[in-house]
Amino acid sequence: MRFGLAGINHETNTFHSIPTKYENFEKSGMLLRGKEIEKLYDSPSTIGGFYKASQDFDFELIPLMFATTGPLGTITSETFEKLISEILEMIEEKGPFDAVLLNLHGAAVSEEFHDMDGEITRRVRDLIGPEVPFGINLDMHANVSEQMILNTDITNVYQTTPHLDADETGYKCAELVYKTVQKEIFPTQSIETPPMTINIVNHNTNQEPMKSILAESRKLYSDDEVLSVSVAEGYPYSDIKKMGMSFVVITNNNMNKAKEYSKKIAKYAWSKRFEMDSQAPSIEEGLREAVSIREKPVVLMDSGDNIGAGSSADSTHILHKAREIGVSGILQTLYDPEAVEKCMNRIGSMITIKVGGKSDSLHGDPIEISGTVKKYFEGEFEDHGRTHGGTKYFDAGDTVVIETEDENTLILTSKRVGNTSIELYYSLGLNPINYPIIVAKGVQSPRPAFEPIASKIIALDSPGVTASGLHNFNFENRIKPMFPFEKEDALYD
Ligand SMILES: [Zn+2]
Repeated sequence: MRFGLAGINHETNTFHSIPTKYENFEKSGMLLRGKEIEKLYDSPSTIGGFYKASQDFDFELIPLMFATTGPLGTITSETFEKLISEILEMIEEKGPFDAVLLNLHGAAVSEEFHDMDGEITRRVRDLIGPEVPFGINLDMHANVSEQMILNTDITNVYQTTPHLDADETGYKCAELVYKTVQKEIFPTQSIETPPMTINIVNHNTNQEPMKSILAESRKLYSDDEVLSVSVAEGYPYSDIKKMGMSFVVITNNNMNKAKEYSKKIAKYAWSKRFEMDSQAPSIEEGLREAVSIREKPVVLMDSGDNIGAGSSADSTHILHKAREIGVSGILQTLYDPEAVEKCMNRIGSMITIKVGGKSDSLHGDPIEISGTVKKYFEGEFEDHGRTHGGTKYFDAGDTVVIETEDENTLILTSKRVGNTSIELYYSLGLNPINYPIIVAKGVQSPRPAFEPIASKIIALDSPGVTASGLHNFNFENRIKPMFPFEKEDALYD
């Protein structure tokens, strides 16, 4: 039994001014073809889960192509066509398959297709025909569409934020597809999309109200006909019509029940909407709270510069504010390839240089620092623990450490790497527990890395292309009315 395996995985921040091009996938080192995909074999990722299922259920997985890169702006039409046509050609060449499994994100947007993941499923379904079982596994930030549901047999979604169950949900997706091939089950899927989106600071599934919504959704499993229940939080930084929360229920050959249950869990989440509208403290409030806590380290989440959601990785807003109010002892990364180049040959010497704030106008002005260039590192590191999304291989590019005269430690990187692993600090010989304050660029994704060491984690409402306050953005394509934008007018029943 042969299953085709492929995927294009992208979280598209349509507010980002830099479009995503083919070269971004190439440069990320994650444009993998054929056997190259097998390096993800034992990773705690969706593809790792697909492989585990292939062993347990004894089907052969034929790796075709997998492309992913960090979030940026809208994917150009040319890039999308190049990626999808290669996958479709490979399906044709290496097929026919007994089933197809795709690792998609669910929040990809191209210039031509706002529902890019839906378009991928449409083209794959057209090619393989209506009979071949077809499953997709999505990120919990997916903006799931009706089109994805119509074109697939199994649409499964991570059920944890931070994402620690990519392999588990990937496994489940593959298992259900396998059982569909065996005609053990006849999946029927339904989706509900109430008009609501959630501020990212409330996405953590270990905290209320998401915790209760997940718990409520799990109760549906007491019905034997329920095969899968997915709560998707949605990705609010995609200004598209299908942006928002969604609820997918798959039953065994019982569409009415799938509809009833997806509606039931959607209504429960809707009843919690006002609890999902809380805001994070300002940078100044967060810094003042951090210095009041004696135990090290306090981790401040720079929500506005959420690298994992497409930000520039070089925001200086927190550093400027810290300097203004006299807070130091900060350890943080900053993306600045230009500064890295200037520092690389000056290890051990003093330097005065402007760093950060160079990508665009949203993330603060460059900040002038004086300090000693302490160390150079080539940037590649691995994390063998459980990280957000199951990432194992990281590459910060050429990296230097500067200890500043005002007692901050800045790690300048030449690639945008999310702060989802603390292995970067260890690779640089830095022990993060020695620092009073660590700034992590993200909101939820750095948590698994920092929770074991942080005395407290505080998410800040910092400005930027991923600011948590959604009122900062000018949406043109989202549905209206929608919660929390039009709080009183948004209706659902
Ligand atoms: Zn996500």
